[in-house]
Amino acid sequence: MAGVTKNTVVSIEYTLRNSSGQVIDASEGRGPLTYLHGVGMLIPGMETALESRVVGDDFEVVIPPEQAYGQRDPAMVQPVPVSAFKDAGEIKTGMQFYAQTPGGRRVVTVVDVSDTEVTVDANHELAGQTLQFAVKVVGLRDATKEEIEHGHIHDAQDHNCGERHANGQCCGKHSH
Ligand code: ZN
Repeated sequence: MAGVTKNTVVSIEYTLRNSSGQVIDASEGRGPLTYLHGVGMLIPGMETALESRVVGDDFEVVIPPEQAYGQRDPAMVQPVPVSAFKDAGEIKTGMQFYAQTPGGRRVVTVVDVSDTEVTVDANHELAGQTLQFAVKVVGLRDATKEEIEHGHIHDAQDHNCGERHANGQCCGKHSH
């Protein structure tokens, strides 16, 4: 088949390094990452770099924050009354919680604690970082009609709804 385009199911092996060259994520030991191309599943810089690639392509790409997780937003560092954490026990700098934000559910990190307030940072931990990916394309196939409708793949290993389906069938939830 032709190279990667919208609605191709792509399998890649990858190593992700931050701007100081430290490995922060890798497919090694976990097996390839398989995703549906062209629906925003990967960061924009990765989808662009993978466009038209074929199996066996092996390349490196440097992705600026605008094409990755965005710049850090100082407005996403906010004080919360200590009372909001009353069920969480002792709050310490570095602890992480799930919180509802205007951008959806995300992980927030405690960056400061006083007697009355807890300051949390809701920026993505990779916000503001230039990322370096080493990528190898190891598999390509056309998505099925159902996969295109759902916007995710249905391989048993990689079903993207957060549940694993031993039979490889979709769970039928169209919004997951
Ligand atoms: Zn589905």
